Amino acid sequence: MTNHQTRCPAPGFLSRTRGGIDVPHDFPAILGDVQDRLARQDFGDARIADYIPALATVPDDRFAMTLRLVDGREYAVGDADIPFSIQSISKVFALVLALRSCGDDLWQAVRREPSGSAFNSLIQIEQEDGIPRNPFINAGAIRVCDLIASRFANPDRSVAEFLGQLCGNREIRIDNEVYLSEDEHGNRNRAIAYLLKSFGKLDNPVEDVVRAYFKQCSVAMTCREMARAALFLANRGTGTDGEPVLSPLENARINALMLTCGMYDGVGDFAFSVGIPAKSGVGGGIIGIIPGEFSVCVWSPKLDQRGNSAAGITALEMLMGAIGRSVF
Ligand code: GLN
Repeated sequence: MTNHQTRCPAPGFLSRTRGGIDVPHDFPAILGDVQDRLARQDFGDARIADYIPALATVPDDRFAMTLRLVDGREYAVGDADIPFSIQSISKVFALVLALRSCGDDLWQAVRREPSGSAFNSLIQIEQEDGIPRNPFINAGAIRVCDLIASRFANPDRSVAEFLGQLCGNREIRIDNEVYLSEDEHGNRNRAIAYLLKSFGKLDNPVEDVVRAYFKQCSVAMTCREMARAALFLANRGTGTDGEPVLSPLENARINALMLTCGMYDGVGDFAFSVGIPAKSGVGGGIIGIIPGEFSVCVWSPKLDQRGNSAAGITALEMLMGAIGRSVF
């Protein structure tokens, strides 16, 4: 390999001009343009989540986007330093923690197929003998939490602490108001946990598991922190501090799961229009990655019918369009 080739940036960092010459992308201009275009767009009947009442207190016009390149550069627009409720984005990090401690045995507890159903559906649990379709629907995430509860000294905090370590801010907090609100309105998640238990597929008491689950969903982080925490997924399993988080093979598998199951029953449309592994949460955040290039986090609280951030999906579509990339 020549020196020139060694220094050549990955394709996502370059844009091809009309003359056929590759030049670096102007990421600040691209993000600024995405923000301006979104501000002029109407997202019709998109609504902030209110089934967890504390989430509905967030101003619904918030918007932030942060891009973190594997070479350490970082670009942000909007409210990128305001913490938001990460909700189901936490499921990726809980899965990584559980995988690190259980290894491949984890795949006896949860499967790896898209569900095609709402994230909080109970139907498949009954039909499929208590083995959740994947770790990102609520049933799968609750089972993953159960595995963590059996293996970690303080399961209520283990995902939050892991996230703090990954993003370089050990002060990451669990938003107690959101936690209490989730707990008070958590009957569907309790129903999921009891149904798993009835199939003998939950090792710990329901209340212990759902408490840990509500706490991991109630972690509050900024867009900037989230992009940093997710960087290892774009970097063959190596975190922002250069420490290995997962092996490259396990890392690739997490990305495969995000691609096929990360956006719930909207995953097909998302792969079609955006084309990257991603994970959403009902707080309005979405993380995504392009392997070898960058992680991105976008936040806009109003959700579409499937519980994914409406403007967040459009922002990612605009970004990928502007740089001419997807994983395909
Ligand atoms: N805590 C939320 C719930 O369990 C997470 C759902 C989500 O973000 N999709 O309903």
